[in-house]
Amino acid sequence: MQNKGKQASMIKKKYLISPGPTPIPESVLSAAAEPIIHHRTPEFSHVFMEVTRGLQYMFQTKEDVFILASTGTGAMEAAVVNLLSPEDEVIVLNGGKFGNRWACICREYGLKTRDIKIEWGKDYPKEKLRDELSIRPGFKAVFTTLSETSTGAVYDIKGYSEVIKDKGGLLVVDGISGIGAVPCPMDDWNIDVLIAGSQKAFMIPPGLSYIAFSPKAWACVEKSSLPKYYFDAKSAKKSLKNRTSPYSPAISLIIQQKKALEIIMEIGLEKLIEHHTILGKATRAGVTALGLELLADNPGNVLTAVKTPKGIDGFQIIDTMHSKYGVYIAGSQAPHKGEFFRISHLGYISRFDIITALSALEMTLSDLGYKCEFGESLKAAEKILKEEDLL
Ligand SMILES: *Cc1c(COP(=O)(O)O)cnc(C)c1O
Repeated sequence: MQNKGKQASMIKKKYLISPGPTPIPESVLSAAAEPIIHHRTPEFSHVFMEVTRGLQYMFQTKEDVFILASTGTGAMEAAVVNLLSPEDEVIVLNGGKFGNRWACICREYGLKTRDIKIEWGKDYPKEKLRDELSIRPGFKAVFTTLSETSTGAVYDIKGYSEVIKDKGGLLVVDGISGIGAVPCPMDDWNIDVLIAGSQKAFMIPPGLSYIAFSPKAWACVEKSSLPKYYFDAKSAKKSLKNRTSPYSPAISLIIQQKKALEIIMEIGLEKLIEHHTILGKATRAGVTALGLELLADNPGNVLTAVKTPKGIDGFQIIDTMHSKYGVYIAGSQAPHKGEFFRISHLGYISRFDIITALSALEMTLSDLGYKCEFGESLKAAEKILKEEDLL
């Protein structure tokens, strides 16, 4: 039959195993198809406030959490412009692509930026931060990442908070991929600014980001003189008192977020984090059973970064998994392209998604000439996954 290849590709089932965007539950997908409602109505205000409360639950904070119509990077920029003034000195813990983004934004706004480069995947113990802060008594803020999505490494935010508390200054945490998967209670850990993004553990499409400020951070917001308009936290705060946002909210995404938060809150944050912990453990057991090596010293619940085995082309792994088996996993980003690949266990991912990813990985590695026994990774993962009963 002509066109056979084309038809086969049309019916090929696809699996998204990426750390953002993540898969979306069916009921959340269909919520986007509901008729649009106007945002200056009591009906929408109700949805808006429900989502705000759900976000407070996710952040584990009593502070307001603002919903921005932007992807995560918008909330990162909002953190910088609302807290600081030109010439302020800041410290960035830069362990990958997203840590580096903090440094780029801070430099762009003319801040004195001490960019601490951490080797990708390596840990950064709090003692090192203590030493760094003691030679920079004038620093205003430390910018960190809970889960560095480019490497899978999770950092000791609680430890950094203790160190910063001794020295003064603000702790700003990019929790975009971590919140919902990795413990990070904002109030208990004295985090001054925490941000998250919709397309990661929050189980909706890209397009919303979330940000909250501690009372200490609000005092800096009052004094900050960097230019800002769309991301002005003071106008967001004023609007929230009236149960709304200053500009048109992303209505359909917020309706989807309400639905997804209902699912998440029914599971409970603690259980959801435990679910991610188990999936992470199973994934690591699976890949190491194949003789593969992990990238991160301290790999977290969000994703598992695996070093490309010697003699195999890293791009071919991603490409074969996607084009031949329909399984999309993430590769590694510049300047480490091809050196490792990332299997996500973030968001609406079940034990069988992990089995699918590992199975496709085994077949792909076999296609590319890497010697491994079929089923080895599945055997290791299944032992862990059979104890799991969520999602
Ligand atoms: C996804 C992500 C971002 C950037 O988010 P965008 O939504 O692409 O703007 C920033 N930091 C981390 C840790 C992320 O995972």
